Amino acid sequence: MIAESEALARVLAEVTPLQAVPTPLLDALDRYAAQEATATVPIPAFDQSAMDGYALVAAESTTAQPLRVSGEQAAGLDGGQRLQRGCAIRIFTGAPMPAGADAVIMQEDVRREGDAIVCTDPVVAGENIRRKGEDLCQGQFVLRAGEQFTPGRMALLASQGLDQISVHALPRVAVLSTGDELVPPGSGPLQAGQIYNTNGLMLRGMLAQMGIRTSTQAHCRDDLHSTTETLRELLQTHDVVLISGGVSVGDHDQIKPALKELGIEPGLWRVKVKPGKPFLFARSEQSFVFGLPGNPVSSFVTFLLFVRPALLKMMGAADAQLKPRLIPATAGTALSNPGDRPHYLRGTFTHGQFKPFGLQQSHALLSLSRADALLRLEAGQNLQAGDAAEVWLLD
Ligand code: AMP
Ligand code: MG
Repeated sequence: MIAESEALARVLAEVTPLQAVPTPLLDALDRYAAQEATATVPIPAFDQSAMDGYALVAAESTTAQPLRVSGEQAAGLDGGQRLQRGCAIRIFTGAPMPAGADAVIMQEDVRREGDAIVCTDPVVAGENIRRKGEDLCQGQFVLRAGEQFTPGRMALLASQGLDQISVHALPRVAVLSTGDELVPPGSGPLQAGQIYNTNGLMLRGMLAQMGIRTSTQAHCRDDLHSTTETLRELLQTHDVVLISGGVSVGDHDQIKPALKELGIEPGLWRVKVKPGKPFLFARSEQSFVFGLPGNPVSSFVTFLLFVRPALLKMMGAADAQLKPRLIPATAGTALSNPGDRPHYLRGTFTHGQFKPFGLQQSHALLSLSRADALLRLEAGQNLQAGDAAEVWLLD
């Protein structure tokens, strides 16, 4: 059995980022930048008013002398007005500052008297002006390779006049469920011994949460020929094939024999982790195979531990983003792992406390459905209620 950290390192050593594709900004949302970009347009792009009010000379706002409103500048094209002594120019948020003005007084702080204003609350020089480049200067980074593209970053790139960026391609992923017992949800009542296929949807949901929304789903029975042929076909058309079930050592587990038929040697099989021991990873010429154990919780946990980081790397995510989001917590109750493998407990995280929820066996779907956090207990580790720990927050 391979240690969890070594298994992850071996998987990550095999996968590389997919090609870069120029992509419209909106379609690039949540994906990972394959380029860096620097600012060509400063923010603000010019000195501008931060308020609706009047542009003036601050020193003239301290007297009770009325200032004649000599013109108006709205947001939009710069009218090129120049402020004369004893005057103010009506101005609006985002409008370019007229030459000669050194402040903007809010309209709430003046009294309008015909075509003049009287300042009731004086301003100081520079007040209510957004200076050119105070947020972003030309040449500053607006995007680095490997960063995830968020709505905020989208806005920043749009501010530079860009309408597309280069992001890494999304992996084409197939989810292959195996098992004679499986029937698709929606296909009517179960016969004795059958169960609905839950992993297929769950794994596609986990892929969708990562931005991979177009995965394909396949099913094969526990027979060597159909498993081999299904796998052969999926490997030709996908970057990644995620298999659930059939990777253990039972007489009906056909994944290893099918890979052998295809001349594919598993790069690793069996990892020291609970749940998820039978996890398998292999590569064919162009694609990668992840064999996840059929028990739903094992599939779920091994997806998070090994598949997610590999997919993120293929999607171009920077190394730091491959790691789980761990946050400090306390054990809400005594927890122990008498086993010889690290155990990922499913539970809830509230007010800084982790409490395991429901059954912890690998078939227990109810607890999986309620869990919002995982807590990893080392082999032999015991925690008392109140002990410090870390939890992995689920999406
Ligand atoms: P296996 O890894 O194929 O030995 O399966 C282990 C357990 O997981 C068995 O109880 C299977 O019925 C169950 N199982 C396998 N695949 C699925 C699936 N797609 N959905 C729900 N349960 C599954
Ligand atoms: Mg099976």
